[in-house]
Amino acid sequence: MYKIIALFALALTMAGSTPWVPEQPNILFIMSDDHAQQAISSYGSTLIETPNIDRLAKEGALFENSFVTNSICAPSRAVLLTGKYSHINGVRDNRDTFDGSQPTFPKLLQQAGYHTAIVGKWHLKTAPTGFDYWNVLIGQGQYYNPRMIEMGDTVQYSGYATTVTTDIALKALKNRPKDKPFCLLYQHKAPHRNFMPEPQYFSAYSEEDIPLPPTFYDDYKGRPAAEEADMRVADMYMGFDMKLSPKDYEGYPEGSGGNADFDVSESWRNTIGGLNDKQRKEWDEFYGPVRREFREKQPRGKALTEWKFQRYIKDYLRCILSVDAQIGRVLNYLDESGLAENTIVVYTSDQGFYLGEHGWYDKRFMYEESLRTPLLVRFPKAIPAGSRIPQMALNLDLAPTLLAFAGAPIPEDMQGRSMKPLLENGKARGWRKALYYHYYEYPHGWHRVRPHYGIRTGRYKLIHFYNEPDYWELYDLEKDPNELNNLYEKPQYGKRIKKLKRQLEELRVQYGDEA
Ligand code: CA
Repeated sequence: MYKIIALFALALTMAGSTPWVPEQPNILFIMSDDHAQQAISSYGSTLIETPNIDRLAKEGALFENSFVTNSICAPSRAVLLTGKYSHINGVRDNRDTFDGSQPTFPKLLQQAGYHTAIVGKWHLKTAPTGFDYWNVLIGQGQYYNPRMIEMGDTVQYSGYATTVTTDIALKALKNRPKDKPFCLLYQHKAPHRNFMPEPQYFSAYSEEDIPLPPTFYDDYKGRPAAEEADMRVADMYMGFDMKLSPKDYEGYPEGSGGNADFDVSESWRNTIGGLNDKQRKEWDEFYGPVRREFREKQPRGKALTEWKFQRYIKDYLRCILSVDAQIGRVLNYLDESGLAENTIVVYTSDQGFYLGEHGWYDKRFMYEESLRTPLLVRFPKAIPAGSRIPQMALNLDLAPTLLAFAGAPIPEDMQGRSMKPLLENGKARGWRKALYYHYYEYPHGWHRVRPHYGIRTGRYKLIHFYNEPDYWELYDLEKDPNELNNLYEKPQYGKRIKKLKRQLEELRVQYGDEA
């Protein structure tokens, strides 16, 4: 309150002379790919320490309930840029191409006087628009020696993608025009599949086993779409995911891996073939003994599934150790250059991920692990340090939020809401009590997850799997946080379902996504 009065007084004293314009903050928007909340220590992870990401929670705000509207890569990125749902921005699934002529928050910031840049993962097929500088990975990008497109020219980099992306981000920060505020989108490929760590983190977790999540052996009872999905750790590829060579697993199936049309052998050969001699030597020094152990033990059945889980989760976490360390480099740069105070730093992911919960990897479903995404925001000038924000945030809200902080107008057709008041004082009048979700990619693409839309309130989640055979799922998140008991057919929930359906229909009308 004191701050508001002080600002008001300042505004009054300035009135009559020149109009008072607050200094536009810089924006550093950091996003990684498939980084689940379960793998961030400030979100309570017991799997990993992420001290640099945690700095943002300590020095800024952590959203305890932040979600995406469509849990898959390219669609989520399009939502973030436009502040609009997939059916409006045109990217419903990874097959769609982003129409770069539409308004995006970087474009609007550019119009408001910002220097705008993006480095790293882009994944929207068309060339980035609205950026003064761009240097992006091609498609999904490679972990080692990535090829990137810098302002239309292909450049071959040597090194590890997370480090390369950070080097480019730091260079972009140092070379930016100093007479303008900047907005830099610094976006990692990691920890996306196929989870290839950086050599310095190979040895992390090698002396321990990671406990299986309690729902690892889910039987999918009452949830046919979950049962149908091809995203079980048990079915991960032996080469591409597990990093074995064909001769290591003779007599074993390759694993369905989520896509029957994917030439996994060729892809893995090309990927591993992309390492230079030094990288290959380090790689073989670590994975050689892992492969040898597999050949000796020849695990089968449950032992094979659990061996796969250890291989998967450890490589995934190792990739995040690089992400966290590299974010630390950038935060240090902000400190050393005096930029930290007037720079909004956002950390998020394009969605959450399954770290063995329900027996899965990947995302897509409206269940908590992939519906949730990390969201941390630091801005020392306006956001109290150590804030925990319980209200429901959506990736849809980031575009209007950043425009609001920049003092730029928010287009009326943006469907998200500015979280600026939540960040500044923890309150926003009439904030959403329920969120709307819609996933589309099926039957093409990966993992065979049937399309669905739904509503999540503070306590309940109602999901409609709407293609044939059409059916619904209902969860009481308070009693069943792991979403194992579909209550939809239980007569005692009839009234609750009716109410949720009404709310869901209202949201569909509000967002223009009626059937
Ligand atoms: Ca992703």
